[in-house]
Amino acid sequence: MELQRKLAILADAAKYDASCASSGTTKRDSVGGRGIGSTEGAGICHSYAPDGRCISLLKILLTNYCLFDCLYCINRVSSNVPRARFSVDEVVQLTLDFYRRNCIEGLFLSSGIIRSPDYTMERVVEVARRLREEHDFRGYIHLKTIPEANAELLARAGRYADRLSINVELPTTEGLQALAPEKDGQAIRRSMARLRLHIDDAREAAAPKPVASMPAARPRRAAAPVFAPAGQSTQMIVGADAGTDRHILTTSATLYGSYRLKRVYYSAFSPIADASPQLPPTAPPLVREHRLYQADWLMRYYGFAHDEIVSAGDGMLSLEVDPKLAWALAHRERFPVDLNRAPRELLLRVPGLGVSSVDKLLQARRVRTLHADDLARLRVPLKKVTPFVKVPGLRAGQGLDAADLAARVRPQRAPVAAAVAGPAVQTSLFDEPALAV
Ligand code: SF4
Repeated sequence: MELQRKLAILADAAKYDASCASSGTTKRDSVGGRGIGSTEGAGICHSYAPDGRCISLLKILLTNYCLFDCLYCINRVSSNVPRARFSVDEVVQLTLDFYRRNCIEGLFLSSGIIRSPDYTMERVVEVARRLREEHDFRGYIHLKTIPEANAELLARAGRYADRLSINVELPTTEGLQALAPEKDGQAIRRSMARLRLHIDDAREAAAPKPVASMPAARPRRAAAPVFAPAGQSTQMIVGADAGTDRHILTTSATLYGSYRLKRVYYSAFSPIADASPQLPPTAPPLVREHRLYQADWLMRYYGFAHDEIVSAGDGMLSLEVDPKLAWALAHRERFPVDLNRAPRELLLRVPGLGVSSVDKLLQARRVRTLHADDLARLRVPLKKVTPFVKVPGLRAGQGLDAADLAARVRPQRAPVAAAVAGPAVQTSLFDEPALAV
């Protein structure tokens, strides 16, 4: 098969994996000599480096053949799709060619399982080894690992990759057994635990150590064995099984706590051709995926516990308002918050105040008393914040008890109702409110 045809098939097959956070941008290209670069070249996606830089990745599968028959997956053995397989050499050459032409800064490589988990993982690792050892490739490499593969192979993968990920796939064991019976939930967690140990060991070895014979001397940084310096991540499919948002966030909290994952990605289930009747016929509303990302943000940066984000009831996040506003509306007795006295963790609970706004407020109030005018200067969304705060120049808690408070403070520009009922297509990043909640 021609290389370009393989690339088209294996890049398209990789697009269902959201764990490199690539989708969502507007379509642009340089056809006709206008400008330079493209957001939609075959297999090229975007990810974010730890320092916040956006980097382009060649995102492909080694092969879309797979022995397993996970019902939600387009690449499952019973799926009637065109198949292709790259050789190790081809992936290495493609990565180098794209890199030399300045199209990419790294590689995201995943694969269906051929012959056995070990056989497949060996090939995936070999791509990374050759790039690093034979070609001195210094770009970013993200390898999707196969949890059933031998522990030694996972350890080798970490020596060459910046980031490793293992998909947990579904939030509950029951869901995994029903939709991906060949996958082993225990093996997934065991492999995550192994990766965590390797990552922790590498970090510990890299930490500066005092010189033993001279306890007061300046610590020296030891030459460190590097292991997946960008950590590990995972992906959960949303809406393929009966798992509620509470199930999903509980699982995420466990994964962050037990395995120190860098990120959990949420991917709204996409209906596939010839699907099993066990799967829902339609995709969940994309706004559900968005709400889960907002809730995840609250757990990681705003000090919320997973079990306080989803209110009692059906275990689902509101599609109408973001989870932080939903929490505030359900806990009005905790407001208004005094902007001049409240501790950081309470300020972070005020709808409309993001982490950087809170830090700026804390810095400003060290030197003088904050007034209402300061909020506008700090670009805080006044309409959203006002009912929940107390600050000179504003009437404390104005409208806090109003029955229509949610409608008053909800961002008007977000077409939430349309998004809830709308078509199951990926929206532009700019159609939804920003993740800072
Ligand atoms: S193992 Fe992975 S590639 Fe294979 S069918 Fe399951 S989800 Fe798809």
